[in-house]
Amino acid sequence: MIQRRKTRQVTVGDERVGIVRIGGDAPVSVQTMTAGYTHEIDKCVAEIHKLAAAGADLVRVAVPERKDTAALKEIIPQVQVPIVADVHFHFQRALEAIEAGVHKIRLNPGNINDRAQVRDVIQACKARKLPIRVGVNEGSIVERKDRQKRLKELGAFFSENRHGHLLAIMITKLEEYLETFHEEGFEDIVISAKSIDPLLVIDAYRAISERFDYPLHLGVTHAGPKETGTIRSVVPLGHLLASGIGDTIRISYANDPVYEVQDGLELLYCLGLRERKGAELIACPTCGRIQVDLFTLTQQVRKKLAEEITLPIKVAVMGCIVNGPGEAEGADIAIFAGDRRGIIYVQGQKVANVPEEQILERLLAECKDFQDRVMRGEAKLGEKKVDILPPDPIGELGSGWEKIQKEKGRALPVVKA
Ligand code: SF4
Repeated sequence: MIQRRKTRQVTVGDERVGIVRIGGDAPVSVQTMTAGYTHEIDKCVAEIHKLAAAGADLVRVAVPERKDTAALKEIIPQVQVPIVADVHFHFQRALEAIEAGVHKIRLNPGNINDRAQVRDVIQACKARKLPIRVGVNEGSIVERKDRQKRLKELGAFFSENRHGHLLAIMITKLEEYLETFHEEGFEDIVISAKSIDPLLVIDAYRAISERFDYPLHLGVTHAGPKETGTIRSVVPLGHLLASGIGDTIRISYANDPVYEVQDGLELLYCLGLRERKGAELIACPTCGRIQVDLFTLTQQVRKKLAEEITLPIKVAVMGCIVNGPGEAEGADIAIFAGDRRGIIYVQGQKVANVPEEQILERLLAECKDFQDRVMRGEAKLGEKKVDILPPDPIGELGSGWEKIQKEKGRALPVVKA
């Protein structure tokens, strides 16, 4: 069980869209950002619906122009998830978004730093009880013109740390920025400190978590395509979350943001920080022993489980009996494949032995039946009834059986000297 860092708590949303709490004893929330233009109202609403259906607790939208904040007035009444306005450069966009009914504001200290303007946004949020995320990004926090000067001045800070100068700048900026919030008596704050460098992300959040008790929004900025961005994001976020740091997360990919939500949720499920919704799929990586098309089968099973199973049933799809029984024993439903066949188990009890083309259909039928029984109170998740006895690799699964039969009727090959 991960011991989470104690923080203040902020509340986002309302009764209509739902209330999401960040920090304190609230579960870690998952957020993402729409990829389309906010002013394209219908498309934006459709994208928000899609992200909410994927499991996003909060959805952020960009509001670079007045037409975007104007669109929010029509978008917000049509969606059922709290909306965050991402504001850069123009503090007026924040005021317009607040007026339009947005549920949270993100400000970037790197490009909205006029104290009077920040004060106006704080007052508007205070009047409506909206939280503000102060989102420091390494890329925009370090002003190009005084970078060298600051590097020198602050180099001594965190001198033991590999990112000493950058950390010093990020934290100094954050402290300076928060002064205005403190002067206004505003505490509904969430902090983020993102970088493209996963190690700097770890160091920055660690340093910030020691200095502030505001909830933290974790993320790696511009993590890149999903193929490489997954590792770049999950390494620092997983490390921080496992250390109890982090109250809301956004994984960012150059791809459909649905993947950000799916991977964010999976990360939290793996760390036991959120209760899993839907089935959990375990599958072997396959090797030279495989005798069915397990890659295709696994993808088909994954898709069907996502569509048809709502309970956190553990399903194992294993290529053979070498590691199958051990791996599958902790699963509610398991299948070991053999020579174009599969044996299916429900909580350790063998229920079917079917040819490859019937595996998907039968496995899904067993999952649905098991789910129904759990819902009726006739079965319990994670309750192994019997140990799995490995099937006979020659007979039952058919592995090598046909070959052996053929060999029996044939004379031994003559070995020439
Ligand atoms: S379960 Fe069997 S097929 Fe899958 S990786 Fe392990 S040994 Fe290979």
